[in-house]
Amino acid sequence: MRFIADLHNHTLASVHAYSSVTECAREAAAKGLSILAITDHAPNLPDGVHELHFMNYHVLDREMFGVRMLYGAELNIGDYQGSVDLEEFIWKRMDLCIASFHEFTLLPGSRAENTRAYLGAMQNPYVDIIGHPDDGKIPVDFDALAREAKRMDVMLEVNNSSLKAAHYRLNTRENLTEMLKMCEKYGILVSIGSDSHYHGAIGRLDEVSLLIDEVGFPDELIVNTSKEKVLKQLGKKHPHLLEG
Ligand SMILES: [Zn+2]
Ligand SMILES: [Zn+2]
Repeated sequence: MRFIADLHNHTLASVHAYSSVTECAREAAAKGLSILAITDHAPNLPDGVHELHFMNYHVLDREMFGVRMLYGAELNIGDYQGSVDLEEFIWKRMDLCIASFHEFTLLPGSRAENTRAYLGAMQNPYVDIIGHPDDGKIPVDFDALAREAKRMDVMLEVNNSSLKAAHYRLNTRENLTEMLKMCEKYGILVSIGSDSHYHGAIGRLDEVSLLIDEVGFPDELIVNTSKEKVLKQLGKKHPHLLEG
């Protein structure tokens, strides 16, 4: 299989998502994935999840149905300086942190303001991935984004939901094509996620796969191609992943 990990998924902890952690894990196993990341919405999104949800992750099994489970959050960028929600002691305990720009928590600004917001979020030492920076309604300077991603060792996400025809984001194909070109130019790892809100969508990464082929993006720069690669990369900011 080309992609062994799905690194962006939501559970029914958010009311606008519909499957339990167990259903998600079972689906990941059925799809042949080795790694599944649960990344529910942090509190500032309307319908985001209470912080206790993230603090209690330790009660969950690390492996379910033969799938290595990772527990994290999709944080919300809250201002053009790039601050994100939740707190350091929680970010630290996570297996991964995605930081995303959602119109519900920050109104899109100018290209320069949006770019500054992303760059600011990358300064957070626990942010591993910038989620779906592909929406034409939130214009961004991909060259600046990629250069800072390189400097701060942050991955940029290729989000399968963004590429679905019916999705509300704008010009995502064109934007992701440009982003992938910049990632190749600067040698930046990309992270792939279905952004599933229902377990049936887990591991559905076909649109991303097609785009990657179309652009001719190298597999070496995709983190989802091996379990070791995922754990090694996320382990840089979350060293507990490298223990045992
Ligand atoms: Zn999102
Ligand atoms: Zn999401």
